Amino acid sequence: MDIDIHPLTDNPTAAWKELSKQQKVIKINAKPPTTDAPNDKLRIVCMSDTHSLTPYIKFDVPFGDIFIHAGDFTKCGSLQEVVEFNNWIGNLPHKHKIVIAGNHELSFDPTFTHPFNANNSGDRHKHMGTSILDNLPTLGMSKDTLAEAIKTTNIKDYLTNCTYLEDSEIVLYGIKIYGTPWQPEFCKWAFNVPRGGPCLSKWNLIPEDTDVLVTHTPPIGHGDMCCSGVRAGCVELLSVVQKRIKPKYHVFGHIHEGYGISSDGKIIFINASTCDLNYLPSNPPIVFDITLPTGTVK
Ligand SMILES: [Zn+2]
Ligand SMILES: [Zn+2]
Repeated sequence: MDIDIHPLTDNPTAAWKELSKQQKVIKINAKPPTTDAPNDKLRIVCMSDTHSLTPYIKFDVPFGDIFIHAGDFTKCGSLQEVVEFNNWIGNLPHKHKIVIAGNHELSFDPTFTHPFNANNSGDRHKHMGTSILDNLPTLGMSKDTLAEAIKTTNIKDYLTNCTYLEDSEIVLYGIKIYGTPWQPEFCKWAFNVPRGGPCLSKWNLIPEDTDVLVTHTPPIGHGDMCCSGVRAGCVELLSVVQKRIKPKYHVFGHIHEGYGISSDGKIIFINASTCDLNYLPSNPPIVFDITLPTGTVK
């Protein structure tokens, strides 16, 4: 099915004003389950945007069959951060652990351009976020750490304790999980692509029979409202998800202040950002149970 590019795709806030006339957004306040998952269901535990702050989380990560991290597990993708994350995830008791990258995993994106280049300063997307260099004080990082981070090669080889998905899928117990790190560009971070056609070409890679879609970016309208009131989600991602893929669950992060669960009446959208706007890892993991295909057992 061909998905049209929305004429207002470059202005997601305005696009949502139009789209929301025909969209349902139901907020869901799901309490974490207190009993074990029944045999015909798979328990999936979701986190995102931990930004190397897992030593400071004040909650226990609930047990489940599958653990998903929807990207931004580091501040800048330095080798030390990746090794620490790999150790942390290695200690989680979940049988399967799935991770995608986000815009902060600079070393994971081979197309990432050097942030110290002159043409990377003074960004036209300033209102959609802050540049890497502007962000260094918030992240408690120096320019040297950043420069060191992006020099690391073969960084993905250090993620030995999880399955890393990048425009790829894994099928577990008959449930297809697909992961992709791309997001509409803002301030030239990693895995940035321009809105409209270039974003859509990434979403066109997602197979139709995906049950759980994991992206770093939210779609427009669900978990994508920035504190400034601007919507940062991808218009074409919502179109593809609703019209073609129709997954049961769509898990993402990226917009920290968009943490929570919502639904359009059919698909459950989960913004699992662990960190809040101030980079405090205060939001608990989001847990859901997905029914296994008939005849499949755990
Ligand atoms: Zn983040
Ligand atoms: Zn992000």
